[in-house]
Amino acid sequence: LTPGAGIGSWPRRRARISPGSVALRQGGRALTYRELADRTDRLAAALAGLGVRHGDRVAYLGLNDTATFETMFAAQRAGAVFVPLNHRLAAAELDYMLADSGASVLVVGPGGEEPDERLRALDSPRRDVRHHLSYDELAARTPSQDASGAVSDAVPHDAVSMDDPALFLYTSGTTGRPKAAVLTHANLTWNTVNQLVHLDFTSTDLGLCIAPLFHAVGLGQISLPLLLKGGTVEVVPRFGAAAVLSLIEELRATCFSCVPTMMQMMAEDPRWSEADLSSLRLVLYGGSPMPAHVAAEWRRRGVPVLQGYGMTEAAPGVSMEAALPDGAPTAGAPHFFTDTALLGPDGVPAPAGSGTGELLVRGPNVFSGYWGRPVEEAGFLTDGGAPGGPGDWFRTGDVVRAGDGLLHVVDRVKDVYISGGENVYPAEVEAVLNELPEVAAAAVVGRPDERWGEAGVAFVEAAPGAAADPAPIREHLEARLARYKLPKEVVFVDELPRTASGKVLRHRLRAHGGGASGGPAPAA
Ligand code: ATP
Ligand code: MG
Repeated sequence: LTPGAGIGSWPRRRARISPGSVALRQGGRALTYRELADRTDRLAAALAGLGVRHGDRVAYLGLNDTATFETMFAAQRAGAVFVPLNHRLAAAELDYMLADSGASVLVVGPGGEEPDERLRALDSPRRDVRHHLSYDELAARTPSQDASGAVSDAVPHDAVSMDDPALFLYTSGTTGRPKAAVLTHANLTWNTVNQLVHLDFTSTDLGLCIAPLFHAVGLGQISLPLLLKGGTVEVVPRFGAAAVLSLIEELRATCFSCVPTMMQMMAEDPRWSEADLSSLRLVLYGGSPMPAHVAAEWRRRGVPVLQGYGMTEAAPGVSMEAALPDGAPTAGAPHFFTDTALLGPDGVPAPAGSGTGELLVRGPNVFSGYWGRPVEEAGFLTDGGAPGGPGDWFRTGDVVRAGDGLLHVVDRVKDVYISGGENVYPAEVEAVLNELPEVAAAAVVGRPDERWGEAGVAFVEAAPGAAADPAPIREHLEARLARYKLPKEVVFVDELPRTASGKVLRHRLRAHGGGASGGPAPAA
């Protein structure tokens, strides 16, 4: 790949092949590849006009919008790093990300106004933002076209190298404070190639971008692969189960990618049974464990659903189901250009042929460190050289069972607890809890216990209309699980604390400890 082939050049490159095809849609609006390329170049020139230079960070705050894509491509076209921020965060958390990333420009897009107000109200000396403006203000700064309609091309995009950072993507913060994974143009490109090897996206596909663009699923699993192929991405600002079901019908959408919570909400929506899903040929999900009955319900409706496994640090794909499995869903086989291994008991990587252990991953899609943190903190297993090099394994922090060339995600290393000397994987207990119709959602955490070292506490969100009665829950668990896996306590909560992408914040539950009758506060 040549130096000018960064992600910011994709709209222009694609416009050479299919200028009139629709790249992005939102509501009734449509942008062709030619229009997207023109806007990208103009916004890139506007950013350069604001003093944005190679390697600078451009932060973005807003809902999913065509403006998010335009600003991302423009920042990358200008040689800068795009930093999408989670608009659901509190002002202090946004402030932390702005200070941490050292962004010099903050663009506020549609839907970002309210969090921006909160941010402005917080007086912080730590931020380095020199230009704080709305997307519309940025677009208005665009140099005017000359008589022939051509835009002056003041963007030094040939300076972009594939190994330059293109995106800082903050991890979900499920296990602690979010960290900015530095993803290069090469990381994102190789992830896109990996996805396209597994999935036969074509230029006739119309995909829905329903997962938030500040997380890896929305961008890397569907949007970039579709845009490379010349397909169309319908940008959905805010996920709503009923609205997305209608959109699938109305647009005859062919694919989308999402987190399991979204599929569960759609399957539980009153519109579900009469929704026409016949246009869907690929639904991808990943990011957290999928309740078995939810995947089964989508399959019952004849929708091809495929599980992907990955993480922000891998841009994000590590593995994916290649074809519809006959039996229970798995995390599939490793992506084409990505290798996996298991961490052996001696601390040495062992081939991920069979067995259970912490998964290691390496490949051209895997990042080489977190922004502003010593590379030692990133958890690479080096072969003696400087950490983060191309030959190093990244420790995923996930326990994975391997067999028949397929991966099964067991749980996170950090969530495993030891009760009476036995390892308990909360995900296994949660899967059994999820079998009960009276359970809407459940999360199990270990907490110190005098007798057993650690013992489990099950936090349960009761299904609408179901009584908060622990007796049938206990009975079901006792029939299905070994004694040491049985939670000592069942605590009913109104709502589990979750991240924006629906992951349960277990550290909050651990702090909560159990025993109280009320629920922990929902996540910000
Ligand atoms: P943080 O690193 O800040 O604690 P996070 O790990 O949740 O947050 P992400 O990078 O968004 O941040 O998520 C990656 C993690 O999601 C994986 O390490 C894994 O634990 C989980 N995950 C991803 N795909 C799956 C899957 N198919 N099944 C179960 N868990 C999954
Ligand atoms: Mg993580």
